[in-house]
Amino acid sequence: MTAQVIDGKAFSAKIREKVASDVTALQDKHGIKPGLAVVIVGEDAASTIYVNSKIKQTSEAGMESFHFALPDTISEADLVAKVHELNADDRVNGILVQLPLPKHIHESAVIEAIAPEKDVDGFHVINSGLLATGGKGMVPCTPLGCLLMLKDTLGDLSGMKAVVIGRSNIVGKPMAQLLLQENCTVTLAHSRTRDLAGEVKQADIVVAAVGVSELVKGDWIKKGATVIDVGMNRIPAPERGEGKVRLTGDVAYDEAAQNAAYITPVPGGVGPMTIACLLRNTVTAACRQAGLDDNDL
Ligand code: NAD
Repeated sequence: MTAQVIDGKAFSAKIREKVASDVTALQDKHGIKPGLAVVIVGEDAASTIYVNSKIKQTSEAGMESFHFALPDTISEADLVAKVHELNADDRVNGILVQLPLPKHIHESAVIEAIAPEKDVDGFHVINSGLLATGGKGMVPCTPLGCLLMLKDTLGDLSGMKAVVIGRSNIVGKPMAQLLLQENCTVTLAHSRTRDLAGEVKQADIVVAAVGVSELVKGDWIKKGATVIDVGMNRIPAPERGEGKVRLTGDVAYDEAAQNAAYITPVPGGVGPMTIACLLRNTVTAACRQAGLDDNDL
C-alpha cells in the first residue's frame, strides 16, 4: 500500500478563498473589515519569515493588517501595554504575538494580557479552558488545521483510536481535546510514554507533534491509518551545499507511507494550514465581536 497524500497546500488555498469571500460578505453586508495585528519582538530569522507570510496572506484575504516590530530590549510592562492598546483598538479583531519571546519576558504574562475574544492563536487560559469544557472559544491554529484535514479526509471520526504524540499547550494538548470532541478515543503520548511504538501501532489516527526528526518509524503505523505530521525540523543537508538545511517531519515519511492510507507531507502538509486557520480565526473573531454568528455571512 502507498498512502494517499493529504495536500495541505491545496486545502489551505481553499480555506483562504473561503476566508476572502467571507471578508467580502462581512464588508458588503455589515460594513466590517476584519483586522489582524501581528506583534514581533526581536529579529529571530524563522519568526520573521512566519510573520511576513502572515502579513502578506492577511492582506491578500482582504483584511486589514497591522504590524508592530518591537526591539528585543522592550520590557515586559511595555509589551503588555502595547497589547492593552491593541485590545482597545476597534480596528483590531485579532492579536497575535509571535513566540518565542526574549527570555526576560514571561510569555504567559503577555498571552494572558490579550483580550480572550481577540486571542486568534487560542493560547489564553480562557480559550484553553473553553476548549477543554466544550465551550465556544478561539481554537489554536495548528491543531485546528490538523482537525480540518482529518475531517476532510475521513469524514466522521467517531470511535476512532487517535494517538497524539507531544503534549505542548500549542499543539498536543489542544489537538487531543479537539479529537475528543469528535468522539475519538484519545491517547496523549509524550517523552515519558513507556512504549511509544506499541501505542502508535494501535492508532487509526496518528498526530505527531514532537520536534524530533523522523522519530515515528514506518513499522509503527497500522495498515490503513491516517498520519498527520506536525513536525518541522531543520536538519543539516550538506548534499545541498555548505550550511544548507532540509525540512523533515517527525515521521519517517517514505516508510510510513507504505502502511498508512493517508499521510501529510513535510513541507506542504500541516504548515500551510496553520496560517489559513489564523485568517479563519480572525474572521470568526470579527463576527463574534460584532454579535454575528459565523453563519451570518
Ligand atoms: P514542544 O517542544 O513544545 O513539545 C514537544 C513535545 O514532544 C513535548 O510534549 C514532549 O513531551 C514530546 N516529546 C519530546 N521528545 C519525545 C520523544 N522522544 N517521544 C515522545 N514524545 C516526545 O513542541 P511543539 O511546539 O508542540 O512543536 C512540536 C513540533 O511541531 C516541532 O517540530 C515544531 O516545529 C512543529 N510545529 C509545527 C507547526 C506548523 O505550523 N507546522 C506549528 C507548531 C509546531
